[in-house]
Amino acid sequence: MNWLLTRTLAAVLMLFVGAGLGYVIGQFTATPMTMALAGATAAVALFVGLDGLRGEKLMLWLRGGQDHPAPRDAGLWGELGYSIEKALRQRERERHTEESRLQQFLAAIEASPNGVLLLDPMERIDWCNRVAAEHFGLDPLRDRLQRVTNLVRAPAFVTYLQAGQFDKPVRFSAPSGRSTLELTVRRYADGMKLVLSQDITESERNDAMRRDFVANVSHEIRTPLTVLSGFVETMARLPLSEAERARVLVLMDQQTQRMQALVADLLTLAQLEGSPRPAHDRWVPVAGLMRRALADGQALSAGRHRLQLHGGDDAELAGSESELFSALSNLVSNAVRYTPEGGQIDVHWRWREDGGGELLVSDTGPGIAREHIPRLTERFYRVDGSRSRDTGGTGLGLSIVKHVAQRHGGEIDIQSELGKGSVFRLLLPALRVRATAPAAPADAASITA
Ligand code: ADP
Repeated sequence: MNWLLTRTLAAVLMLFVGAGLGYVIGQFTATPMTMALAGATAAVALFVGLDGLRGEKLMLWLRGGQDHPAPRDAGLWGELGYSIEKALRQRERERHTEESRLQQFLAAIEASPNGVLLLDPMERIDWCNRVAAEHFGLDPLRDRLQRVTNLVRAPAFVTYLQAGQFDKPVRFSAPSGRSTLELTVRRYADGMKLVLSQDITESERNDAMRRDFVANVSHEIRTPLTVLSGFVETMARLPLSEAERARVLVLMDQQTQRMQALVADLLTLAQLEGSPRPAHDRWVPVAGLMRRALADGQALSAGRHRLQLHGGDDAELAGSESELFSALSNLVSNAVRYTPEGGQIDVHWRWREDGGGELLVSDTGPGIAREHIPRLTERFYRVDGSRSRDTGGTGLGLSIVKHVAQRHGGEIDIQSELGKGSVFRLLLPALRVRATAPAAPADAASITA
């Protein structure tokens, strides 16, 4: 009410001052009352005029963008301008805060590994993040306000949206055809829908691999078990001669060993998958690994092959001795098992130009057709199942070698041609390899079985 009182007083003051002045001037023209009235009117008109001008200035500022400060007049208009400006600036600050909060929120949704798609009650696209755009093959700007079912036509998706039963998620093939998506839909606000999409290709593949693995293990164990139980039944029911009994026992022993080998390889794989990477500070002499692997190979070959070592006396590997040995001896034992009698098997150590090294096992065996090579390191993948089983193979050897290589930062490389033998290389990075003074001249260690 302060401003009202001041303005009234100012108007009254102007009125009196005008009237007073008019009265004084009127003394000279002998019309004091008329001049007093005219003076009062002129003073009030001046007051109103000035007031109007100030009001107009404020109005102009309001109509403009308010990008400069409000007119700083004294009195009512100044105060009004200041208060309006303060309220506007406050509103602007709040809008900025809201805006940046919204941007942060959208950035968080953008960073989500899941797709987020907002649909209006007509199932038109209101907003979607980059992941959802990729999942559904959408363009977040161009496709805004388009009906989603016109753009994503996968029958499972369309039926799911139309049925409106969102208590369970749905799976369908992404429009790109390269991945499988799982969708969850939630309703919010007035008929809006929040669609969350997740790429489950990897987990589906893992599930399938797990199922295959369990089926394979069961199959691998069931076969020797069936054979064993057959022999047990035979022994229990039939009166066998001593020679027959001895033969059956040998066969039973073979099946037991097959199961033992399988369980041992499964345990090795489980251990490789479940333990941390081998340390970098444990150095294993390469020559020792090669000699042990060769000795095992010789025992398995029992004089049927020529086995030779080449190099390795000047190198050490950083990692797990037991894992590296298991990888190399798997390669050597494969070479022995698949190479016909009289064949040649060579185990080399080679330095590589990048400072790394490789353990190489070559044989003069039957070789492997090109189409099989990429799959050899899959668990239970065999080119010739019966040859593998007859020679005590579990189908897990190369997958163990691959794991060991990867755990040491390396990889396995397989070169083979049908009829020309095979070369298996365990490549190790420079970080895991170091040179030592050779204990014996390179290429000197050559042992023939
Ligand atoms: P397995 O226990 O059957 O030998 P691996 O994983 O060690 O299992 O090998 C997978 C398959 O690769 C084998 O079944 C065999 O068909 C093929 N293979 C491995 N090494 C050789 C080799 N040196 N020569 C020919 N074939 C090989």
